[in-house]
Amino acid sequence: MSEGPRARVLVHSSADLNAATNAAFDFLEHDFSGQRVWVKPNLIGPFPPGRGATTDPELVRRMVGSLRARGAAEVWVADNPGGWLRGSVETYLAPTGIVEASDGCFRNIAETPVTLPVRSRFIKEVRVSRILHEADVVINVPVLKTHALTLLSGAVKNLFGVIPGQLKAEMHTAVRNSTEFAELLVDLFQALPANILHVMDAQRGMDGQNGPTGGRTLAIGRLLASRNAVALDSVMALLCGIEPARVPFLRIAGERGLGPVRRADIDITGDITPVPGFRLPSPLLAGALTGIIARAYPLARSEPLLARERCIRCGRCANGCPAGAIVLDPWPRIDDRRCINCYCCAEVCPRHALVVPGPVRGFIHRLTGW
Ligand code: SF4
Ligand code: SF4
Repeated sequence: MSEGPRARVLVHSSADLNAATNAAFDFLEHDFSGQRVWVKPNLIGPFPPGRGATTDPELVRRMVGSLRARGAAEVWVADNPGGWLRGSVETYLAPTGIVEASDGCFRNIAETPVTLPVRSRFIKEVRVSRILHEADVVINVPVLKTHALTLLSGAVKNLFGVIPGQLKAEMHTAVRNSTEFAELLVDLFQALPANILHVMDAQRGMDGQNGPTGGRTLAIGRLLASRNAVALDSVMALLCGIEPARVPFLRIAGERGLGPVRRADIDITGDITPVPGFRLPSPLLAGALTGIIARAYPLARSEPLLARERCIRCGRCANGCPAGAIVLDPWPRIDDRRCINCYCCAEVCPRHALVVPGPVRGFIHRLTGW
């Protein structure tokens, strides 16, 4: 997974997706001829392409075309959306545009997962999609966006999607807070095979407290590529205006030697001028602070709050809650004694009706119930 101390990252700035895709593949210097390639976009849920929550279908279309032109024997496009899935994954994910853009390559990978051993103080193994072992090479295609629990999403976080649907949410019950979750994320990353390349969709992204699905959509106009996920995510952090080592999962990955997190240790080709006005989630809630301030964490942390005017009472949040903390009564009601603040419910809500409060709003809610 690591390619040594001088990992390379491409930051391609162009609206021409054909040129950007080919630049990324050329940069990765991988011979796809005769290979079975799994293109793994971010398909967290049925969000429309312009939202910035899921990978751009037009990018996936270009990637499929380019991989075929480069002689790939088979191309598969697949991901595990969050939460319980009822019915066909193709129908569920059709709004993302990726099923159509995959040009016959889309696969359902939720069935018959296999066991992957994990060296971790939290878990011993995890169930992952079988395709991970069937592919000769994986192209991980995350989106540049924020994440209320991990501060930023990106390449390392997108690989959490090798775990089918609700099993992902259940992983949250193994940890107590966002810092431990960051450690678990790195444990899982470390357990994955090494045949993974990374192309980050930063044409459009998402910022703000309610990423990875309910934040603000941003036009960024870049495509990133690297053979090293940690280096790639570190460059993403620089684009978002934060030192990579302040992002808990990157700090942990850097300490374990999985890739460089210091700008000086990465060979960057392209423009890394930070995205103007990029808004990060609260570093307090995401475990990015230490010392006395970090001890305020339990006081500031609150369960998501319901914006009732947006809720359609579909029940997806309740079905997807790994702690069984939500009942529909008739609106979703969260039992704060059971809630583990994993924010899976906010992620899967199709209407962004569950809002992750910032520390001040969270503190007020804990104090007054409002
Ligand atoms: S909060 Fe969202 S997921 Fe939950 S019932 Fe309302 S619309 Fe559905
Ligand atoms: S109610 Fe709490 S425990 Fe359940 S999904 Fe939402 S944040 Fe996680």
